[in-house]
Amino acid sequence: EGLTQNDFPLTLDHALRRMERVYGDSEVATFDGAGLQRQTFAQTVERVERLASALRKLGVGEGDRVATFAWNNARHFELYMAVPCMGAVLHTLNIRLFPEQLVYIVNHARDRLIFVDASLVPLLAPVAERFERVERYVVMGASGDDVELPGEVLDYEQLLAAEQPGFAWPRLDERSACGLCYTSGTTGNPKGVLYSHRSTLLHALGSAVGEAMGYSSDDRVLPVVPMFHVNAWGIPYTCALVGADLVFPDRHLQAEPLARLIESERVTVTAGVPTIWMDVLRYADERRPDLSSLRMVICGGAAVPLSLMQAFQERHGVRVIQAWGMTEMSPLGSVARPPAGLSDEEHWRLRATQGRIVPLVEARIVDDDGNELPWDGRAVGELEVRGPWIARDYFEDPSGREKFDDGWLRTGDIAAIDERGFIRITDRAKDVIKSGGEWISSVELENHLMAHPAVREAAVIARPDERWSERPLACVVLEEGRSATPAELRAFLADRVAKWWLPDDFAFVAEIPKTSVGKFDKKVLRAQLEGGQLK
Ligand code: ADP
Repeated sequence: EGLTQNDFPLTLDHALRRMERVYGDSEVATFDGAGLQRQTFAQTVERVERLASALRKLGVGEGDRVATFAWNNARHFELYMAVPCMGAVLHTLNIRLFPEQLVYIVNHARDRLIFVDASLVPLLAPVAERFERVERYVVMGASGDDVELPGEVLDYEQLLAAEQPGFAWPRLDERSACGLCYTSGTTGNPKGVLYSHRSTLLHALGSAVGEAMGYSSDDRVLPVVPMFHVNAWGIPYTCALVGADLVFPDRHLQAEPLARLIESERVTVTAGVPTIWMDVLRYADERRPDLSSLRMVICGGAAVPLSLMQAFQERHGVRVIQAWGMTEMSPLGSVARPPAGLSDEEHWRLRATQGRIVPLVEARIVDDDGNELPWDGRAVGELEVRGPWIARDYFEDPSGREKFDDGWLRTGDIAAIDERGFIRITDRAKDVIKSGGEWISSVELENHLMAHPAVREAAVIARPDERWSERPLACVVLEEGRSATPAELRAFLADRVAKWWLPDDFAFVAEIPKTSVGKFDKKVLRAQLEGGQLK
């Protein structure tokens, strides 16, 4: 009672209004393989309005799911703004999922309309017959005449051309849904996370603060992390909110086009999983592109090897900052920003952690019985988090309930937290190696291995062992033209980890299998081990 403050709705149309009124001159640029297609935020908003009108005419109503099957580009960004702001739900489909998962997800979400990049039609068409409710497809970009999709096929640009600018945006409840993203669960079916306007806007704001990503209107941001997975870490919404330019790579995600884009577009911030930056580093070492515009590379989605961060810093003057999160967290949880005034050694030790939780997120670690563990940098337990952009349930799927614990999300990550709140993830629960009753951190072994000059990639998994129950098996990809023997690698590790951690076995492989979003896929490695394919 007596409160004097507004109950202002935290809905995404606020970001759209800022794009129009405050940051009309900011830019969205999309690389099309030859050159860049550019449009201002003001022009983008006009197209967003036309798109919203078209959606309404197509019968899309509040709460309806509108699916996308698309790369990182301006049209996808327009959908990011139009769909939620008109009251519908943006359902981003991961283009790299197995057909079975894709079919399950489209049917579970009850999608009726899919926006698909012309370049991705051949990937979608073979499974489209199995979509139960999809009536229409809107194809984006130049496509041949022979689009083989069941149901009505419309053209994106024709839809927009038929509409006028201007749209009466509805007043939305901040607790209504704005986006839906499925995570490939460890067991069972993929699980949907249904984001609200409130959670997404707060996440965008939380990402923008200096202690997190610190984006602002003088940035030019290149999201390499796909818009088809966890909203490209929320980057499109954060950029809309603070007026940062967006530079989209579309489907050109190899090291060379990325490095060239950074160079020619004077990109200041870019973001993606470690495997991408390993490739870019190799390219940069050979070709020396001008990366001087970059003030930060945000790297996360998997543990970031210290050697990668140091190599970028020393050889290219580029700062790689580690962040941690997951689909259920929108995804941002923590960012590794050590305080000033530390010794070099201490600074890098903290840079190699997953960092401190960002404002509005809370974390704790618990043991197997659910007891909270101290923040002393040593005690290790499951990391749990809560906050306004962290899920409390899965979308219409009670089978995932055990992930949620009285307002806390069980992340499935095993971590220690130090006195200053720096989180150090030692493993995912499912990747833990239990040897003689003690845990060996696969993440730490991998980081040390990847610091060896001959090692390109390393993933360490558990191999069943009669005596110790499990022992580490190191799967290693060597740099081209380099060699290293198991004995050499063991000697290299011996200076860095406890003796009983040293892998007895090394498997030299041509590549480490990757997940749909480019992380090392240990599930596949374990299956290969079981099938006798790893020697
Ligand atoms: P999935 O990979 O299962 O599809 P997500 O994309 O949501 O799901 O990935 C979330 C998981 O990725 C986290 O729980 C964590 O294990 C891992 N992860 C993300 N960032 C980091 C990081 N910086 N360091 C270590 N692990 C990370």
